[in-house]
Amino acid sequence: MKKIFILALALSINLFFPAGCFAETVMFNTKTYKFHKPGCEWARKCTVNCIKLEKKQAIQRGGRPCKVCGG
Ligand SMILES: [Zn+2]
Repeated sequence: MKKIFILALALSINLFFPAGCFAETVMFNTKTYKFHKPGCEWARKCTVNCIKLEKKQAIQRGGRPCKVCGG
């Protein structure tokens, strides 16, 4: 019974929140080509060269994930 409940829950979450809704945004540094999670301390320090991008766009631009937050 518990398994069915979990399965139903997982299915409804998928239904209400398709993957596309969770397009991850990152702070992309246009100078160093590194991108950060918005909560990363380096993202907060980066105010001049950083722009908000979707993670996949950052990667398309040649971005590499930050070593501290993992992008
Ligand atoms: Zn970072």
